[in-house]
Amino acid sequence: MTKQKVVVADGIDMAVVVPPALFSAEVKKPPLMPNGYITINKKKLLLQNLEINGGTRVNAWVESMRASSPTSNRKRTQDQSTWMDRHPSALNMFDEITNASKGKQIVMFLDYDGTLSPIVDDPDRAYMSDAMRATVRKLAGCFPTAIVSGRCRDKVYNFVKLAELYYAGSHGMDIRGPSKGSKYKKSPPSVLCQPASEYLPMIDEVYGLLMEKTKSTPGAKVENNKFCLSVHFRCVEEKKWSELAAQVRSVLKDYPKLRLSQGRKVLEIRPTIKWDKGKALEFLLESLGYANCTDVFPIYIGDDRTDEDAFMVLKERGQGFGILVSKIPKDTSASYSLQEPSEVMDFLQRLVDWKRHSW
Ligand SMILES: [Mg+2]
Repeated sequence: MTKQKVVVADGIDMAVVVPPALFSAEVKKPPLMPNGYITINKKKLLLQNLEINGGTRVNAWVESMRASSPTSNRKRTQDQSTWMDRHPSALNMFDEITNASKGKQIVMFLDYDGTLSPIVDDPDRAYMSDAMRATVRKLAGCFPTAIVSGRCRDKVYNFVKLAELYYAGSHGMDIRGPSKGSKYKKSPPSVLCQPASEYLPMIDEVYGLLMEKTKSTPGAKVENNKFCLSVHFRCVEEKKWSELAAQVRSVLKDYPKLRLSQGRKVLEIRPTIKWDKGKALEFLLESLGYANCTDVFPIYIGDDRTDEDAFMVLKERGQGFGILVSKIPKDTSASYSLQEPSEVMDFLQRLVDWKRHSW
């Protein structure tokens, strides 16, 4: 196994420990540049990082996680201001955004962790502030609003505690309408969609195996999100990340119907069904009666790689837009950016004020 410097095509440098099996036929024999760097296409790298079930790519994935971490000390050559030119602040572009929505129904989709609440070491303590809750409550009075999270729906509801919202938990695999009458939903609460019900016994089984397997790694935390699982790296020493990722893979290799994906210092384990936050967004728009409407303007705000599926759906539909919450440049299909949850709250409050004054 060799350590190579890699220049990813869009300019982010990463040192990747390259196991012999990392490069598939598609990227075999990468061209060596004069300075000893190899160049590979970033999309291919990301794809390979996600294909942990398919080969010994754990180290590459761990390095990718380090490189994408906001706390990483690695030098990023992608200039922040260039990135901000392509993904300007949604606060600075507020007038343009609201002008684009004129005559259309805004529908709000909000991720939870890192979007409404700060990222914290203990995922069980990712509380949102009272001020944020009050803002989201006002927002839901102005627009249909959904929380879309990788968390178990009950858990995210217990954090948010607003009955007038739609909730899509488990990366959208568990969707429920408002349990309190709102002007957008007056019927009793109902489970709207659970496309992965048949996977419940398997998820429970793998949860038990992962708990057992990872208990030797200090700080590792396995979270049961009902239709999916999360293995949190946040409290694990960085030198133990490879070991933990290998433990996860050793369990998952016997479950080809489950797949791994990477989030912010977390590995997500989900059924292989074609369902994600983007599909949840489409399902919710349909449930709200906007399936084939041209006068709908969905806004999705999220901070994670799993939110990219929703950003991509909006881009492909040519409706509304995504806002990525990030302080650092990232590859994204979102149109705009916000730096942190406090800016999300400011943006939501401005939407509320704009709506109230536009009538
Ligand atoms: Mg998040």
